Amino acid sequence: MKNKKLVMIPGPTPVTESIMLEMGRATCAFKDAEFTADYKKLVNDLKKMLKTEGECFVVAGTGTMAMEMAVANVTKKGDNILIVSHGYFGDRFIDLCERKGLNVDVLANEWGKTVPVEDIESKLKEKDYVAITVTHVDTSTGVCAPIKEIGEIVKKFKNTMLIVDGVCATAGEREYIDEMGIDVLLASSQKAFGVSPGLAMVWAGPKAMDRRKGLGTIPEFYIDFEKWLPIMHDPNKYFGTPAVNLIWALKESVRLINEEGLEERYERHIKDAEAVQAAMESIGFGILADKNCRAATLSNVIYPEGIDDAEFRKILAEEGVVVAGGLGAYSGKLFRLGHMGNIDKHIIVSTISAIERTMMRLGYEFEVGIGVKTYLEMIM
Ligand code: PMP
Repeated sequence: MKNKKLVMIPGPTPVTESIMLEMGRATCAFKDAEFTADYKKLVNDLKKMLKTEGECFVVAGTGTMAMEMAVANVTKKGDNILIVSHGYFGDRFIDLCERKGLNVDVLANEWGKTVPVEDIESKLKEKDYVAITVTHVDTSTGVCAPIKEIGEIVKKFKNTMLIVDGVCATAGEREYIDEMGIDVLLASSQKAFGVSPGLAMVWAGPKAMDRRKGLGTIPEFYIDFEKWLPIMHDPNKYFGTPAVNLIWALKESVRLINEEGLEERYERHIKDAEAVQAAMESIGFGILADKNCRAATLSNVIYPEGIDDAEFRKILAEEGVVVAGGLGAYSGKLFRLGHMGNIDKHIIVSTISAIERTMMRLGYEFEVGIGVKTYLEMIM
């Protein structure tokens, strides 16, 4: 019998049936009264969910577009921007910002470690930064940035906007926009929301909306807050055709999140992550991120000596689980395992078990069952 493949890469994540059904519905006219009411409810629910008095934009596009939308609406050519990078996706802001003619400074650390918050504070004192970008969870390293602490620091700098990339965090890692001092949060549908790829979300707090107003006309068109704001308030208006079925799917995802409870969902992610990471270590793998900054949404799992990445991932796929390879200098040295969104113990136990079967087939010596046992003992 052929295995059903579990997609355990860090996004897209497994899509649960009720979300799939929304994507499979007959597409209606985008001015259909039922749809426009659904769209409006989604936007309002997303604002309520992450607690902002500001705005939320839900637009067709990927996480990268959301990164660009976040930066474009609060900065202008010649502004200073500070990029705090914990890996490949943090670095992605560098090129993006340089192309916009921003003066870019970067704070980074060795992969797997966070930039100390004191370094961020000293850097912000050096000059007038219009914005700072922080990737909440960098998917290349599995490092989770201390957003709450960073928010406390940035609050002291009245002209500086805190832009948080939540693509691999939002709906899985604890985020509350206004109270954490986040000015712009960006995310996408395919990770902890558990929807297929294709929707970008950008939340902009009151300070960010004021900044946008002060910028006048910006060079960007499709990603301009001011073009989309009338639609977010009244989806009967038109700017670009909304991704009808994905909007329904995201609405269902938010319904599931509210049903579970956001705090409960955050706690579930932490508990699962700790248990999965301990399970991997018990088999003999390492984890790239330091213990004090490990993400709850994914793990970057380092191979023990002698395990070949390509062979491991090929056999694991035969055993029914797809994981992603390492990025940058860690290509070939680790695999990236997502454990976020709408997954449950069945999926995680199956994943750990498939990893154990793979290691058995590779002739690796370990106590068979130890990964599953470790997970179960920690989770139950
Ligand atoms: N930021 C982070 C943290 C990501 O993990 C990713 C995608 N893996 C992106 C941005 C880019 O998102 P997308 O691939 O949807 O454009």
